[in-house]
Amino acid sequence: MSDISDLYREVILDHNKSPRNFRKMEGADRSAEGYNPLCGDQITVYLKMQDGVIKDITFHGSGCAISKASASIMTASIKGKTPAEAERLFDDVHKMLTGELNADASPERLGKLAALSGVCNFPARVKCASLSWHTLRAALQGGQAVTSTE
Ligand code: ZN
Repeated sequence: MSDISDLYREVILDHNKSPRNFRKMEGADRSAEGYNPLCGDQITVYLKMQDGVIKDITFHGSGCAISKASASIMTASIKGKTPAEAERLFDDVHKMLTGELNADASPERLGKLAALSGVCNFPARVKCASLSWHTLRAALQGGQAVTSTE
């Protein structure tokens, strides 16, 4: 088990150090802002849609290592998916973060997102990890709204 935890930790550190898709997007179709007042995490998610799929997704903002790594892994996981697929993944992630879904038991469903499974042991961090997903959902549902996880 400790091997898996080490691997997860490495993934989080890596995504925190060099976050993927970390930039403001020019000409985004949709965007939304999210804010987690408990920790001070602030994020904006930008989307470009094409033919019913999320053609491009980027994020920008500031926050703790968990929120940043989570957003980074999310963008890498969501690119090329339809909003419905993204929504399903959000469900899985939410279940994983609340301990309802065992990430080790369903690695193919979660992929790299499983790196955040340890967060369910730290309830105060769940909002950090889910912030980017709530913000993505707001963006998909029309955007421009300010989301607060409170
Ligand atoms: Zn945080």
